[in-house]
Amino acid sequence: MPSYKLARRLAQLEPSATAAMNGRVQQLRAEGVNVISFSVGEPDFDTPDPIKEAAIAAIHANHTHYTTTGGTAELRKAVAQRVTADQGITYGVAQITTTTGAKEGLYLAFQALCDEGDEVIIPAPYWVSYVEQVRLAGATPITPLTSEATGFKLTPEQLRDLLTPNTRVVVLNSPSNPTGSVYSAAELRALADVLRDSSAIILADEIYDAISYVEYARWLRAAPEMADRTLIINGVAKAYAMTGWRVGYVAGPQPIITAIKDIQGHTSTHTASISQYAALAAYTPSAAIDQSVSSMAAAFRRRRDLILELLAEIPGVSCNVPDGAFYVFPNVTGLLNRPLKDGIVCTTSDELNNHLLDQAHIACVSGEAFGAPGYLRLSYATSEQAITEGMQRFRNSLG
Ligand SMILES: *Cc1c(COP(=O)(O)O)cnc(C)c1O
Repeated sequence: MPSYKLARRLAQLEPSATAAMNGRVQQLRAEGVNVISFSVGEPDFDTPDPIKEAAIAAIHANHTHYTTTGGTAELRKAVAQRVTADQGITYGVAQITTTTGAKEGLYLAFQALCDEGDEVIIPAPYWVSYVEQVRLAGATPITPLTSEATGFKLTPEQLRDLLTPNTRVVVLNSPSNPTGSVYSAAELRALADVLRDSSAIILADEIYDAISYVEYARWLRAAPEMADRTLIINGVAKAYAMTGWRVGYVAGPQPIITAIKDIQGHTSTHTASISQYAALAAYTPSAAIDQSVSSMAAAFRRRRDLILELLAEIPGVSCNVPDGAFYVFPNVTGLLNRPLKDGIVCTTSDELNNHLLDQAHIACVSGEAFGAPGYLRLSYATSEQAITEGMQRFRNSLG
């Protein structure tokens, strides 16, 4: 193979650890190994029927051409109404763009906001793509490690210490991937008080808002005065079990949204027209769809309770109680540097993660991938039977 000179910006790019784990799971399954996966970050439910029907109807109606950059006016209007209802602040259509998944929304936001030398505060443990996207934008990720003691939430003191004149963006992800933490209104208010004297843009990633087991506090409900420097990121993927449809949105001040649309105009332009019609159905008020969303959230809650109960029975593992999303983030330091089954000793959570895959045939993602060694991330977006069997295997592999 000849070697190719690739762009310098790729030198620092880390391939996604979750995607790598999913690849290894597929490989093992192809070899006939029965692997139970806790590594996948998506709902295991099907997209609700009325949404699928809207997409099929869109095909029959020949909505198969280019739409407006950033999505149809109809979809952006439905999103604006949803955001207005969520946030209690009026958002107009010009303050909304829809994107190819929330992930593209985040990417475009960093592209629109960041220059070289700019700093972006991303509390760790973090969702991996934030860091890579910030680097791709030429900016510097600043990743304060939050502690289990604060429920993996950034404290006002940590934030105050890190804010500099170069702080361009602060990322808040609640409920969080990977920890499941949900900030309370008081905690958000305290962060807002620190941010008052800075000019940072706050990027509120609310993609798991429908999956919260406590009263969900939104950033702008706690800090409405910050609306003119807040970008809200959300999408249909997690709430409506629509990961593959690739529809997200960014809501925020019109000049930033216009800048994002200008980039979209030269890149993806918009997500698939058919997906836009599916998302329009999701965002059009419907009792049937609301019912599906809440029954999925209720199922996630039962599974969270089950996995927490089973993890608590594993000696050496302790787990913070997550208040949202569909992940647990147990501390596994009690399993390191001591002999497990067959005398195997793991010195890092990454090694333990490999041990669990090789010996127990359960796939998790190690905390290293999220900037927090000593932990594992397990997604419980899987059946109660798989959770029970998987935790049994986990326990058995420890000897
Ligand atoms: C899944 C996820 C997203 C992106 O979702 P899309 O599938 O791109 O809409 C964004 N942020 C977090 C924290 C996520 O877990």
